[in-house]
Amino acid sequence: MRQDLLKVPVLGPFLGWRHARTVLQVLMLGVALLVILDGLWGPQLAPKNMAGVLPWVHWRGFVALALLVAGNLFCLACPFMLPRRLAKRLFRGDRHWPRYLRTKWLALFLLLLFLWAYEAYDLWSSPLLTAWLALAYFAAAFVIDGFFRGAAFCKHVCPIGQFHFVNSLASPMEVAIRSADVCGDCRTRDCIVGRYENPRGLDAGTKALRPHERGKLLQNGCELWLYQETKGGNMDCTFCLECVHACPHDNVGILTRPPARELWEDPQRAGVGRFTQRPDLAALALFLTAAAFINAFGMVTPVYALEEWIGRALGTSSEPLILALLFLIGTLAIPALLAGTAAKVSAGVSGSGRGVVQEATRYVYALIPVGFGMWIAHYLFHFLVGGLTIVPLTQEYLTFLGFSFAGTPDWALGPLVPDAWLLPVELLFLELGLLVSLVVAHRIAVREVGPGPKAMKAAAPWGLLAITLSIAGVWLLLQPMEMRGTFMGG
Ligand code: SF4
Ligand code: SF4
Repeated sequence: MRQDLLKVPVLGPFLGWRHARTVLQVLMLGVALLVILDGLWGPQLAPKNMAGVLPWVHWRGFVALALLVAGNLFCLACPFMLPRRLAKRLFRGDRHWPRYLRTKWLALFLLLLFLWAYEAYDLWSSPLLTAWLALAYFAAAFVIDGFFRGAAFCKHVCPIGQFHFVNSLASPMEVAIRSADVCGDCRTRDCIVGRYENPRGLDAGTKALRPHERGKLLQNGCELWLYQETKGGNMDCTFCLECVHACPHDNVGILTRPPARELWEDPQRAGVGRFTQRPDLAALALFLTAAAFINAFGMVTPVYALEEWIGRALGTSSEPLILALLFLIGTLAIPALLAGTAAKVSAGVSGSGRGVVQEATRYVYALIPVGFGMWIAHYLFHFLVGGLTIVPLTQEYLTFLGFSFAGTPDWALGPLVPDAWLLPVELLFLELGLLVSLVVAHRIAVREVGPGPKAMKAAAPWGLLAITLSIAGVWLLLQPMEMRGTFMGG
C-alpha cells in the first residue's frame, strides 16, 4: 500500500496549499539574499561568512538528506524560480527550446564546468565568487525562461537540477497518480495542459478546451512535459506540485515507492522516453557517479601529489589547467573506458549482440546508487563536522545588528555527532549504495536476458565496477579530508 505525503496531517495540507511553494521559495530567497549580500560585502574568511557556510555546508547536507528520505525537495523550494516567474510575466517566453538541445548534453557540460570551477577557483573558500555564482544563477533562470516555453532552464540547463533528477531516481517518493482508472476516465488532462477559464461554458469538465476556446490561465500544468498518466518516476520532476493543483480530480499525490525501482524499469516515460534509448541520460548518470568520487578526491591530500605530477609532466604550474585535465580524465575518460569494458563483457556473456554504447545505456543506471552513496557520505561529512558553525556565525551577525543578547561567539564548537561516528556513518551510506547498485544491476540483467545464470553473468561486470567504485570510496573516506566551512583544520 503506497503512502501519500499529501495525506500526512499538517504537512500534507500545507504542501497541498496552493501557495506553499511560494512560501518555501520566499524563505529560500531570503537565505539566498543573505548569502549574496554577505558574500559581496561581508568578511572574506569562508567560515565567518554566510556564503562560505550556508551553501557549501548546510544546503548540500540538507539536499543529500532530503533525497535520501523523500525526493527532490530542493527544487520544490528553489528560489531561482521566483525571477523565472517574473520573466514569464514580463516576456512572452513562447519560443521553443532548440530541438538539438533537448538532451542532457548541455547540462552535463555545465555540471563538469561547475565542478571544475569549484575546485580550480576554490569556490567553497571564496564568499565573493559564491555570491556571484548565485547571482549568475538568478540571471540565467530569468533570461532563459523569459525567452523559452515551459521550464527549459530546469529541464535542459540547470546543473543543480540534473544532480537532483539523477540522484532522486533512488529516492523513496515520487509525484504520481493515485488511481490509474481516474486518469483513464479523465477528459481534460489539466495536469499537463493547465486549467483555463471556460468563458463560454463549453463542455465543462468533459473535454479539453482548444487553444482558441480558452480564457485566462488559472493554473499551470506540468511545464516539464511530464503527463501524469504515463509519468514514470522522478526523472525531470521538480516536485513543483503544479500537477497536484491542476488535477480537477485530486488524483495526484506524493507517493512512496520502492527506492531505486525506476532504475531497472524501462517503460515509455512521458517527457523522458525510455532510459535505454537515452545515451545522453546514461552519460549524465555515469558522469555524476564518477564525479561523486572525483569531487571527494579533490579534498584529500593525495590529490596534491597527483596535481604536482601532472604539472611536472605538462610543464605547467597552472592549477586550473591541471585540474581541467584531472576532471576530464576522472569524470569522462576513465568512466567511459570502465563502462565501455563492462558493456563489452556483459554484451559478450549475454550474447545480446549489442554495441558498447547500446549495452552501456542499459546498464549504467545501476551505478547511480553507489555514486549517490558517495555523495551522501561526502556531503554529510561536511555537514556533521561544520554544521554548528552557523551558531557562532549567527551570534556574530546579531551582535553586529546590535542585539546584545546573542552572546559571545564560540568558534570552536565541535561536530554535530561524536568524532568516532563520522567514518561509520559515511561508510554505512557508501555500502548501502553499493548494495542497491548490485540489486539494480541484477534486475536490469533479468529484464534484458531473463532470470537465471545468464542474468548473473550479464550483471557481473557492472557489479564488479560498482564494487571497485566502493573500494575507491572507502579509500577516499579513510584519507584526511579538508574541513571546509569550519575553523577546524583551517
Ligand atoms: S492526473 Fe488528473 S488531470 Fe491528469 S490525467 Fe489524471 S485525472 Fe486527468
Ligand atoms: S508538475 Fe511536473 S515537474 Fe511539477 S511535480 Fe508535477 S510532474 Fe513534477
